[in-house]
Amino acid sequence: MKTLTCDVCRNIIQSPVSNRNYFHLAHRDICEPCHDKLEALIKPTVRTKAPFSYDWYSKLVQESIEKAIQKGKFDASKA
Ligand SMILES: [Zn+2]
Repeated sequence: MKTLTCDVCRNIIQSPVSNRNYFHLAHRDICEPCHDKLEALIKPTVRTKAPFSYDWYSKLVQESIEKAIQKGKFDASKA
């Protein structure tokens, strides 16, 4: 059976299907629960960003993921 490991929480993702039970973002594999936390984490920042730019968004996503990988989780509390 094909499996993937979430780069953030290290959980095994069984039968991974892209954009359904895992997400490939910023060259990382992210499980669905972590993706939900990522969205919750960046949503307030994204909402207030004007004008919105996709480059800025990609960078925000990438930085948030790299930070989460170091911590082993998405942490909503700002450093
Ligand atoms: Zn995960």
